[in-house]
Amino acid sequence: MLFRRTLITTLTIALASFGSISSFAQAWPTKPITLVIPFAAGGPTDVLGRVITASMTKATGYPVIVENKVGAGGTVAAAYVKNAKPDGYTFFLQHNGMATAPALYRKLSFNPLTDFEYVSQVVDVPMTIVARKDFPAGDIKELIAYLKANSTKINLGNAGLGAVSQLCGMMFQKALGVNLTTVPFGGTGPAMNALVGGQIDVMCDQTTNTLGQAEAGTVKLYAVTTSKRIKSLPNTPTLAESGLPNFEVVVWHGVYAPKGTPKEIVNKFNLMLRNALKDPEVIKSLTKLGAISVPDSKLTPAGLQTWLSSEIDRYVPMIRAAGQYAD
Ligand code: ASP
Repeated sequence: MLFRRTLITTLTIALASFGSISSFAQAWPTKPITLVIPFAAGGPTDVLGRVITASMTKATGYPVIVENKVGAGGTVAAAYVKNAKPDGYTFFLQHNGMATAPALYRKLSFNPLTDFEYVSQVVDVPMTIVARKDFPAGDIKELIAYLKANSTKINLGNAGLGAVSQLCGMMFQKALGVNLTTVPFGGTGPAMNALVGGQIDVMCDQTTNTLGQAEAGTVKLYAVTTSKRIKSLPNTPTLAESGLPNFEVVVWHGVYAPKGTPKEIVNKFNLMLRNALKDPEVIKSLTKLGAISVPDSKLTPAGLQTWLSSEIDRYVPMIRAAGQYAD
């Protein structure tokens, strides 16, 4: 008897809470939504986040706000999102760093495969090799020769261990057989300021951050890191055709939510994101920045989850072999 009453009470509570979750999800959003960006304002991840959230805000009438949580190549932000309330008001935009962190950090306070809900991939962005505008090398072949001959004098900027600028810079040095002095920043936004100001010499960074500067002549752009030349830079060689065969780094992006965020809200945010990516103003801005759209199959929670897991399998042995670690 007592058992039956307990069972009925439990079922009633379960049904009531199910009802409240689903009506909660139906009413969502009722307040501003935050998209956490793991790097400094003004850099590539920040710019991508701001372009998309501006369109989401315009379409839904609810502010979708960017919050920059900077530190440790994006891992500070990931840990913050892992511990955020799974109430549908916190989302996270991160790039390849979500897959490289498990190899780079011996003690990681989050598990990219189990601590998040997956929302969607976003766009791919090529990277470029850039140097300060007065760098003494006319083209990529001369740049490679110069770096090899003067490696001890060169400063290479990046956005910290776990950033794609660090990954690309590490692969570039390994391919050249050199050890440059690396200078970490909270994002490649501030690193770009240092490159323009001549405080650092070279950097590998997304087209989102480098195309405008190269066009303005404030930095020299030498090569792209994609396997083929890109549409927005038809005259710029790839590293692969410049004596570094198989060199390829493409930046992919994923949107995540804290584990336990209701599925209905994840799906609604996914739709908001896909609508933003179809917004002509977003397409125009992202195309100008060199971003490449991804197939619809990647714009799904499953598309991101499968991709992330395959990228972890790809990067972990590569990074371990290069012997890069942080505690
Ligand atoms: N481009 C940076 C990176 O290297 C991140 C950023 O500032 O957006 O990962």
